[in-house]
Amino acid sequence: MNIFTSLMNTARRKSPWVFHANAGSCNGCDIEFMTCLTPRYDAEQLGIHHEGSPRHADIIVVSGPVTRTTCEALETVYGQVPDPKVVVALGSCPATCNVFAGSPTIVGPLDRVLPVDVYVPGCPPRPDAIIAGLAEAAAILAGDKPRPVHSAAQPSIADSADSEA
Ligand code: SF4
Repeated sequence: MNIFTSLMNTARRKSPWVFHANAGSCNGCDIEFMTCLTPRYDAEQLGIHHEGSPRHADIIVVSGPVTRTTCEALETVYGQVPDPKVVVALGSCPATCNVFAGSPTIVGPLDRVLPVDVYVPGCPPRPDAIIAGLAEAAAILAGDKPRPVHSAAQPSIADSADSEA
C-alpha cells in the first residue's frame, strides 16, 4: 500500500462524511440520527461529519422502507457519492419494510435497490447503536473490515419499481 492510499484510509477511518437520505421514513429514525449530533452523543467529536451534499460524502445512511416516490432520487444520490462508498440501512424499515411491508407504494426493502453494507436494527435504533453502525461503516471504508457479499444480480431501482407496478 502506498503512502497516499494509507493516508486516505486513515482519513476515512478517522473522519467519515455521512449523507443522510430519507426514503419514506416516519421520521423516528431521522430524529434519532440527528440526536447523534447533539452534545449528549456528539458524533462529530468522534470525527463523524454530517454532510449535506452526496458528492462529498463517503457513507450514505438511508432511513425508511423505500417508496416509489423516493427510489429514483435514491438511485441518483447513490450515483453521486464517489467510490469507495458504504451504504448503511438505518432502522428496521430499510431492512424489512417493517410496518409498511405489503403496501403497494413500497419498493423496498433497501437491499432490493442498493447494496447494503451495514444494518442498524431498531424501530428506531438508539443513537449509540447508530454511532456504532457508522464506526463499522468507517472500518469497511478504510479496508479494515470486509464488505458483506452482495447479491450478484442487484436489480436496478427502475426494474424494481416496474416489477411492482
Ligand atoms: S424503523 Fe420505525 S422509527 Fe424508523 S422509519 Fe421505520 S417505523 Fe419509523
